[in-house]
Amino acid sequence: MHILVTNDDGVMAPGLLALAQAMRQVGDVSVVAPERNWSGSGHVKTLHNPLRVREVTLADGSPALCSDGAPSDCVALALMGVINRPVDMVVSGINPMANLGHDVTYSGTVTAAMESIIAGVPAIAFSLDAGEKGHGYLDYTAAARIARLVVRTALTNGLPKGVFLNVNVPYLPAEEIKGIQLTRKGLRIYRDELEKRQDPRGQYYYWISGQSPTGVPEKGTDFGALAEGYVSVTPLQLDLTAYHHMLGLSEWGWHNGNLPAAANGSETG
Ligand code: MN
Repeated sequence: MHILVTNDDGVMAPGLLALAQAMRQVGDVSVVAPERNWSGSGHVKTLHNPLRVREVTLADGSPALCSDGAPSDCVALALMGVINRPVDMVVSGINPMANLGHDVTYSGTVTAAMESIIAGVPAIAFSLDAGEKGHGYLDYTAAARIARLVVRTALTNGLPKGVFLNVNVPYLPAEEIKGIQLTRKGLRIYRDELEKRQDPRGQYYYWISGQSPTGVPEKGTDFGALAEGYVSVTPLQLDLTAYHHMLGLSEWGWHNGNLPAAANGSETG
């Protein structure tokens, strides 16, 4: 069993070390992670710049590779040949902040897993719901234990093709975590505010700021599980098609490849 570990916080982040150490109890581990923090960078494919890869040593003395690319670039690099061995699973994290609801396409932690799915390799993203504490020292012990359990279970049962897991762990001691809930994406509430400021040369710049996002702790959702002290496991897929609305939208006249009369130039203006 060969597991690739990556993250979006940078190769030296303590959450990555905790995840790599947990994965070594499951199989052989390779680490390819970004050299800097890419949190919130989304699903990136670097096409117009070279990508450099260099060797580093983690805090426990183990070897790792880091790249100047995004988390998704790191996964692509590893799976396309930088790691000279087939990978059975990609795990990403452990992110110090939760990745819930609409966070998933912003999150470098989650989009690293998306890149793996595109390459046909099963993947799991791990985040800790440490909230404001996530800016300081964190104890990853419980989250690492959960990660080991989830990865073992996924490897034993086999993830469905094209499906990856977004796992969020409450920031609680292991004995206080109530269990694992299978959830759907909940509703994130962003409280972003746009600040317009003037630089020393008189030019305006913008800064997206505001308060930390919240969410709706509805039962059955990722937010709901965490609010009750459960680990949230959300199965995700890259197919974003709005299947429930295909029928309704077909009434617009585009079904069966029909070209509506207006597009034929029969309507002016
Ligand atoms: Mn991060």
